[in-house]
Amino acid sequence: MDLIRLKNVSKRYKNGVTAIYDLNLSIKKGSFAFVIGGSGSGKSTFIKMLYREEKPTTGSIIVGGVNVAKLRNKKVYKLRRKLGIVFQDYRLLPKLNVYENVAFAMEVIGAKKDETRRKVLKALELVGLKNKIHNYPDQLSGGEQQRVAIARAIVNEPKLLLCDEPTGNLDPDRSIEIVKVLEEINKTCGTTVIMATHDKEIVNKMKKQVIVLKDGRLVKQQERGTYDEAF
Ligand code: ADP
Repeated sequence: MDLIRLKNVSKRYKNGVTAIYDLNLSIKKGSFAFVIGGSGSGKSTFIKMLYREEKPTTGSIIVGGVNVAKLRNKKVYKLRRKLGIVFQDYRLLPKLNVYENVAFAMEVIGAKKDETRRKVLKALELVGLKNKIHNYPDQLSGGEQQRVAIARAIVNEPKLLLCDEPTGNLDPDRSIEIVKVLEEINKTCGTTVIMATHDKEIVNKMKKQVIVLKDGRLVKQQERGTYDEAF
């Protein structure tokens, strides 16, 4: 079953730049997909349209049965609650410790304290950071900070996890660790993971579904694919 379906999607920004041209694709529930391509190929725009940070100019984008292209602004929060988002720059709150950074995502939706505690510890265990719950972000390495950000993104048990260049600030060893954590979440929780990246080494090591964009156009979509030099 498809979790995501795009039909004739294009995106033209106000300044006249077209970032996405006539994109048609679908992503199955429970899959792990890399969105790849060079800088400016439209990866970020694609991810942003999935969580309705940007609206497409034309076409429909079905996410979990809802056309997010048509979603009213006041309903966007409902979509956002159903998905987790991880960014390149972690975006942790510096004055909160690891536990509090993750718990914060549950407090804003009004979860009870004991449920929050249980789910926060479970999420931190999944990312391998249960031993650092009292640390503050500036007491963590980049890789650890990103793992906190991932725990925060999954604490509400979303069906979909969107990651925009999550390894962009990390060295190759830390990068592969992060992707292994994402793979584990995909396997054990059944979460659909979509990760935008331009890291060829990671893509070729993992052999997952690939969606390759070039200058805003889909040039390849393949199960267990690679990122070839030709693109
Ligand atoms: P990628 O993530 O692959 O680097 P982007 O989706 O960020 O690509 O960008 C695709 C194209 O859209 C680029 O030409 C970029 O300059 C342009 N673009 C991205 N965001 C905006 C924006 N907010 N306004 C205008 N143009 C944008």
